[in-house]
Amino acid sequence: MLVRVKLFHEFDSDAEFIDKFAVPEAYLAAFNGQVDLLLDAWQAALTRLLKTTLELAASNLLTSLENEVDVIELNVNLGAASTIQTLNKEFRHKDYVTDVLSFPQLDLHEGKATREWQESDFAECFDDVPMALSDVADDEEIFCLNLGDIYLCGDKVAEQAENYGHSYWREFNFLCCHGFLHVLGYDHEEGQREESLQFALQDQILSALQIERTLTEPKASELVALAKEFSEQDCLTLQTESEAKIDETVPDNFKSGFVAIVGRPNVGKSTLLNQISGAYLAITSQKAQTTRDNIRTIYNGNNSQIIFTDTPGAHKADDKLGTYMNQSGIAAIKDADLVLLVVDAHFKTAGLVEKKLIERLEELKKPAILVINKSDSIVKQELLPLMANYNELYPFIAIIPISALDNEGIKDLLNEIEQNLPNGPRYYPLDYFTDQTERSICAELIREQVLKYYHQELPYGVATEIEKFAEEYDEDGQRVLAKIQASIITEREGHKKMLIGKGGLALKRLASSARIKMEDLLDCKVYLEIRVKVRENWRDKEMFLNNFGYNLKQAQNRPLR
Ligand code: GDP
Ligand code: MG
Repeated sequence: MLVRVKLFHEFDSDAEFIDKFAVPEAYLAAFNGQVDLLLDAWQAALTRLLKTTLELAASNLLTSLENEVDVIELNVNLGAASTIQTLNKEFRHKDYVTDVLSFPQLDLHEGKATREWQESDFAECFDDVPMALSDVADDEEIFCLNLGDIYLCGDKVAEQAENYGHSYWREFNFLCCHGFLHVLGYDHEEGQREESLQFALQDQILSALQIERTLTEPKASELVALAKEFSEQDCLTLQTESEAKIDETVPDNFKSGFVAIVGRPNVGKSTLLNQISGAYLAITSQKAQTTRDNIRTIYNGNNSQIIFTDTPGAHKADDKLGTYMNQSGIAAIKDADLVLLVVDAHFKTAGLVEKKLIERLEELKKPAILVINKSDSIVKQELLPLMANYNELYPFIAIIPISALDNEGIKDLLNEIEQNLPNGPRYYPLDYFTDQTERSICAELIREQVLKYYHQELPYGVATEIEKFAEEYDEDGQRVLAKIQASIITEREGHKKMLIGKGGLALKRLASSARIKMEDLLDCKVYLEIRVKVRENWRDKEMFLNNFGYNLKQAQNRPLR
């Protein structure tokens, strides 16, 4: 069976294509300005991407089609922002431009057919028989299956590549992969499980093709080779039995699910999560509200997989960032299979925040475990009134005192969680323990150092961003060095001065301790360069929030990506 992407564009001239699709100059330079050759290269790259996507995310579909068709196709349409907007208006009743739109031809669900194949699903190839089959075509009919269309907006590719700090190439491939998966019946908007599945597959597919976030633009020679490859073969051969697909072979009684860790700031949620993962993922600190985004950590037990999300502490929102934090927390409860309400052992009764969270649990009828943390610093009997108080407030499945700091009671907690999760699949491969990228963890590590060294208002006006992340490997493929360029973004000139310190000493100290943590995380030598930038009121400006990875719109209504 063969696979190919058919590439279309709507532009009248090369110049219009270059302009309206925001094609980077370097891509054209590789072909001395010949747009046709560039499109050949893109078509070859997208055919590769589709092949890998089908093999990793739709092996079931491929097996079912093996004796039915000769060619599987998908159309990729390159469009101007105005076209995408019109399509959105017409088909989704939304009057704005999105990055990628998918129009599936078939009713597939997560890479599987939902019904028997019918003859009308397939079409005969007449005038566009693949090169590899042109001999066969003289005697026999060639059947093909078209999976559907995706529409890609070049302006968005360029804009988002810049916002996310990676290459046009990465964004171009990422969006197409995202669209391909939609066409195959993956839908991250359905819920947490679906989102995790789709995002894990995206990562898996793009890393199989070595299209990493850290990738810079492809070399001119690579593009030229792709164009040549396409002129010689316009299709690729599909492997119907892929070895690298997500491990679905778990026993029937395998337990899995999503566990939200909620509670007021400072009760030790991040410490607990770190203890469970054994790695340094969620950042911890003595100041409130350090966790800005949901952080997922995956725990693989003998017969279970637990996906934890650490939510930002519930608090009153007084700016956009605050609103975002609350939304992230609430969303995590809603989609969770089980909730851990973490409270501090020093409290005698439930406070307002806990009561609000319990109201939410009641509303959504969520099974919950009460985790009483910091029990190391209190006499056991003193916990009794607190336990009695919570017992009256909600039918918790269990109440478990722990010390996240001393790693006490955590085994019991994990057992209790396992017993109360539904039977389910292994959502993530075994070697996958967080959906945070190294890049974003490194940015968090720098922010953690800012929280450690500076007090009062400064830390909360600070965001961190990794601008460059270049790696070097030795002959055995071991990573030996990471060169990281980062910036700290602050709201005021005065803060910038504080951060840098006299003769740059403060910044040096901060960079040096962040670097040590990064070396630990990345397991290689790190060169770290940090710059400090001023952006007034960045917390209130959505544009900057997007740039720094806190996507407000995404938290509200999760658009296509
Ligand atoms: P979060 O805001 O809920 O994520 O809380 P953190 O995990 O950032 O922890 C807040 C503070 O409580 C930190 O200083 C931790 O070291 C401390 N802490 C966390 N767990 C424990 C514990 O089990 N015992 C004690 N004594 N302190 C803890
Ligand atoms: Mg935290």
